[in-house]
Amino acid sequence: MLEKLEEFDMDKVIQEFESLTKDAEMVQRETLKRILEDNASAEYLQSLGLNGRTDPESFKACVPLVTHKELEPYIYRIIDGDASPILTGKPITTMSLSSGTTQGKPKYVPWNDELFETTMQIYQTSFAFRNREFPIKSGKALSFVYGSKQSKTKGGLAARTATSNVFCSAGYKCGMRALQSLCCSPDEVIFGPDFFQSLYCHLLCGLIFREEVQFVSSTFAHSIVHAFRTFEQVWEELCNDIREGVLTSNVTVPSIRMAMSKLLKPNPELANLIHRKCTGLSNWYGLIPELFPNAKYIYGIMTGSMEPYLKKLRHYAGELPLLTADYGSSEGWIAANVNPKLPPELATYAVLPHIGYFEFIPLTELENAKGEPDFLCVDPQSVGLTEVKVGEEYEIVMTNPAGLYRYRLGDVVKVMGFHNSTPELKFIRRSSLLLNINIDKNTETDLQLAVEAASKLLAEEKSELVDFSSHVDLSKEPGHYVIFWEISGEASEEVLHECCNRLDKSFVDAGYTSSRKVNCIGALELRVVRRGTFQKILDHYVGLGTAVNQYKTPRCVGSSNTRVLQILSDNVVNNYLSTAFN
Ligand code: AMP
Repeated sequence: MLEKLEEFDMDKVIQEFESLTKDAEMVQRETLKRILEDNASAEYLQSLGLNGRTDPESFKACVPLVTHKELEPYIYRIIDGDASPILTGKPITTMSLSSGTTQGKPKYVPWNDELFETTMQIYQTSFAFRNREFPIKSGKALSFVYGSKQSKTKGGLAARTATSNVFCSAGYKCGMRALQSLCCSPDEVIFGPDFFQSLYCHLLCGLIFREEVQFVSSTFAHSIVHAFRTFEQVWEELCNDIREGVLTSNVTVPSIRMAMSKLLKPNPELANLIHRKCTGLSNWYGLIPELFPNAKYIYGIMTGSMEPYLKKLRHYAGELPLLTADYGSSEGWIAANVNPKLPPELATYAVLPHIGYFEFIPLTELENAKGEPDFLCVDPQSVGLTEVKVGEEYEIVMTNPAGLYRYRLGDVVKVMGFHNSTPELKFIRRSSLLLNINIDKNTETDLQLAVEAASKLLAEEKSELVDFSSHVDLSKEPGHYVIFWEISGEASEEVLHECCNRLDKSFVDAGYTSSRKVNCIGALELRVVRRGTFQKILDHYVGLGTAVNQYKTPRCVGSSNTRVLQILSDNVVNNYLSTAFN
């Protein structure tokens, strides 16, 4: 593996991908066979009566579709130290913790070396396509990456976020070096115990190596925006550190101080240059290329729940292209961005047919769940990877080499086309409903569209939306939607009231509008929260062990999430009730 990565050959990787996707159906059959053979001794598979059969038809007939909930009894036995073959042939010794910010609480999912291999396959594939269009020179990456704390489960297994499992894998550094993507910060910064201190030092390392930085990245776009918003606050302190060659006393972690002292030398010339550049910018437009003159692009996941950050990211990026990264989850990777020239709004992800076995549940199947608050309650029929139809939406089901079989990931994707015979997917949304009171059904996308439409009104006021969330308030009859907004700059009462009405009107779902008309759903409420509120929510999740890398702002806060609801409620500065249906 290591040797293979050392001699990364772009053309070969592209050729391999082209050949694997020529007959994706056959590759899928082989992949399923390999997964089932490798794990034939697993108790879970043995109990399902496959009796050595590895074909997709038998697999679908014997193995049920599951969600994480159904696998929990097995996963908990592994966590508690039962080393017998439960879900996999070889015992699982490491767990990944998913961010839990979309579902409410972090979930344990099995991790093994095969998942690391698939991660590198995804990275290599997308790098090959990316580098063909946007070649980088050997240099460094300014990567806002943060290792999470490693804990031990009751049974002694290591548990950390999936991204940290990747960073800690033996072949990671070597692999990243081969992809010219080594992070410019030392490990002490990446694995530091304090998020803010690590972020500060990532910025500092970026500035020290500014000429060498070839691209700026993070797992999700949110972390990049967050990093440069922080830069706006700390840039003078950063300049001071560079001028004096001494790290600010605000960074207190000894290992980070020690590592940074090796990099930091007094450099008044560089400090003055950065100072000049920062003061010369208009409202920080084009900050990234100004700081990193040789950066070729910005790289990170920019689709789905990251789209609301694109506007700010473009502002910082100026003319630099935004390239969305790949599609995957703590449970495993799915697809790579092989069309890097497409802007994030049009991006698709091509499924790698050899990294897992994939099925797709047509969304029309899930329509049977009408009226159900949760789409996951029905038992639908799935189709195979090459049977999907262009233009249709599906919920994705994965079988991976780490003990997940026919696992409903909870994501909805749309098939936009095919790369050879493998589908190119657009990420649409999480499949669960976000807002639902009566017969209304509003998803994350519906909320995102409503917020996008309403927040346009802020631009006229020279203020902007920093972040948003929502909540269904059932404390009074009738229940109503509450939308929380953090905004920067000043917006007048009239405009905010207008934003509130626009939000209400932008939920076009017939169940919502008809319920609003007859007051079965009350007037939508916009609550504006103090600056820094969403930072407090992030801090709260980081305190719970979520790695910032995988953080996604919770777009709907349920009543049981009392702490986050409390943070939001404590910081409300103004609220507005819609009069759109009066
Ligand atoms: P986690 O639960 O922290 O492992 O995050 C995985 C989830 O992040 C996926 O199930 C998706 O909902 C989301 N995600 C991952 N990659 C992408 C992508 N490229 N575009 C949009 N959403 C993504």
